[in-house]
Amino acid sequence: MADTIAAIATAMTASGIGIIRMSGPESRGIVRKVYRSKGGRKQIDNEPSHTIHYGFIYDGEEEIDEVLVMLMDGPRSYTGEDTVEIDCHGGVLAMKRVLETVIKYGARPAEPGEFTKRAFLNGRIDLSQAEAVIDVINAKNEYALKSSLNQLKGSVQKVIREIRESIIYHIAYIESALDDPEYISIDGYGETLEREVAEQKSRIERLLETAGEGKMMKEGIKTVIVGKPNAGKSSLMNLLVGEERAIVTDIAGTTRDILEETIVLHGISLRMIDTAGIRDTEDRVEQIGVGRAKEYAKDADLILYVVDSSIPLDENDEEIISMLEDKKAVILLNKTDLDTVVSEESLRLRMNHPVIPVSAKEEQGIDVLEQQIKDMFFEGELSFNDEVYITNIRHKTALEDAVKSLELVENSIAMQMPEDFFSIDLMNAYESLGTIIGESVGEDLVNEIFAKFCTGK
Ligand code: GDP
Repeated sequence: MADTIAAIATAMTASGIGIIRMSGPESRGIVRKVYRSKGGRKQIDNEPSHTIHYGFIYDGEEEIDEVLVMLMDGPRSYTGEDTVEIDCHGGVLAMKRVLETVIKYGARPAEPGEFTKRAFLNGRIDLSQAEAVIDVINAKNEYALKSSLNQLKGSVQKVIREIRESIIYHIAYIESALDDPEYISIDGYGETLEREVAEQKSRIERLLETAGEGKMMKEGIKTVIVGKPNAGKSSLMNLLVGEERAIVTDIAGTTRDILEETIVLHGISLRMIDTAGIRDTEDRVEQIGVGRAKEYAKDADLILYVVDSSIPLDENDEEIISMLEDKKAVILLNKTDLDTVVSEESLRLRMNHPVIPVSAKEEQGIDVLEQQIKDMFFEGELSFNDEVYITNIRHKTALEDAVKSLELVENSIAMQMPEDFFSIDLMNAYESLGTIIGESVGEDLVNEIFAKFCTGK
């Protein structure tokens, strides 16, 4: 039987209230030992489920905190087990002491994600929902949150189930036909299967297409600012990041050790890699070489190329321009407050990227840049209502495996292999998809075969 776990469920910062959560068979027993009602009369473990009780947490004779205790017996709880939540004061110390007390009286500290794991093991949620919960907690911006919530509702699950249903139908058909050739014929079946496999494969591929963008939404768009020395990279970075960063930098002292900064524009996270900030700590004015910036740019999702409009392009610029060809990039024509020698037009002619005149000094053009970034990633390309996104790397791998298996089926059909060859690969695809929602294979298949094709024997 599972033991009883406990953890602080709220953030470990000073806040109005903090919640200590316990889950497992001993939850009530433990709270009985540490809870006292105001008059001391109430026996909390005699109280009904889904009730709230005002009182105090005691460690022996020592009062720890004034609390509200919530009783939620399984299976009507998040984990499906008996659960007790203790609302205590929100200071870090109060939360820790309440947690220590319930641990002293028999609970075990929960591992990260263990409540959700239990919810899964107890059949309260499926695996994709469990992962979505983790993603909700980790979501770094509102779009990622929306996508995770959507997944939590089971939208990924629904699509996967539909695809699996189709696949298993055909597995069952083939198996039954092989078992019972008198009743079920598979003559010409290859064609039907071919159509079906192509359709399901393209559904999986559509899911996979969302994976790239899904990933970006969760982790932020990896953004690199490049440009020759003195073009204004640091100044623009500071503008984008805003006041806060300057303060952080001051506190950090002489060495600027923050190389990556997440900023949020219109709810979109940009993970800014500040190549301008990467300097030799001995000599803080030494600029990063263009060569090094190129390395960072290689796997960036978005490149911001800063051009100094007050001086002609030089070999550094030429090198950057040649590298931008097949990238998503925005050209920032900086220092437009000065006399310009590089025109917007000349850059447009040379590169197939949007060009935005800005001035870091006068803080001009930043709003245009923000709008541009928003448009590039989201307008027309994604809508956030009923779309299904794959934001989880494990899901992505499983989908890719399923596509591979379906391709093998297509090959086998093309090569007119015997039918039992089809079902092996179909089963692999079915299984790969099943790992996304944490479902086992055997039972479903058996049920399916008997429900659909049992020919009365
Ligand atoms: P980086 O080497 O690319 O990071 O460039 P910096 O941001 O350090 O800027 C180099 C110099 O250009 C600094 O003296 C800035 O004050 C100046 N600078 C940056 N942006 C502008 C701008 O828009 N207009 C003017 N006039 N000067 C700028």
